[in-house]
Amino acid sequence: MHFLSIYDDQLSMMSQPIIDLSYPLDNATPPFPGNPPVEIVVQATIPADHPAGVPGAMNISRLHTGPHVGTHLDAPFHFFREGATIDQIPLSDTMESHSC
Ligand SMILES: [Zn+2]
Repeated sequence: MHFLSIYDDQLSMMSQPIIDLSYPLDNATPPFPGNPPVEIVVQATIPADHPAGVPGAMNISRLHTGPHVGTHLDAPFHFFREGATIDQIPLSDTMESHSC
């Protein structure tokens, strides 16, 4: 399971291809020691007899985990009282441009 952010609009505006180095997140993803494990539970599924494209039914999952699991970015605030929080870091600051 990959989680895309509200910043996907920024990604679509970039002219270079993007290589996603993140690993999928699932119930087998090991947490950082001392953090809760990943728990993804299906809460509801669209019934097989529900007409395709018709609203009214949903697939719903519940995700429970700590923030330090799988591929993630620790904000400076994690280590420094006055550090930037993750929402203060532009997505572009997390990317590098390379030529192959
Ligand atoms: Zn972390």
